[in-house]
Amino acid sequence: MPKKHVNGKATQLPSERASKVCPVYGLPFSWRRRWERDWDNVRYCSDRCRAAKGQAGQAH
Ligand SMILES: [Zn+2]
Repeated sequence: MPKKHVNGKATQLPSERASKVCPVYGLPFSWRRRWERDWDNVRYCSDRCRAAKGQAGQAH
């Protein structure tokens, strides 16, 4: 069984996707599998940040 060469072009890796900056921490976070279908709507790096932002700011 010949070994498969994986040195060429690979499919797009999650790490190559765009990262975003969490408005709560002001720190960048990268794409995660759980956001695969919802990445465009993701604004915070975690549910905790989203909750913190909600408490600090206006109610939605
Ligand atoms: Zn965050």
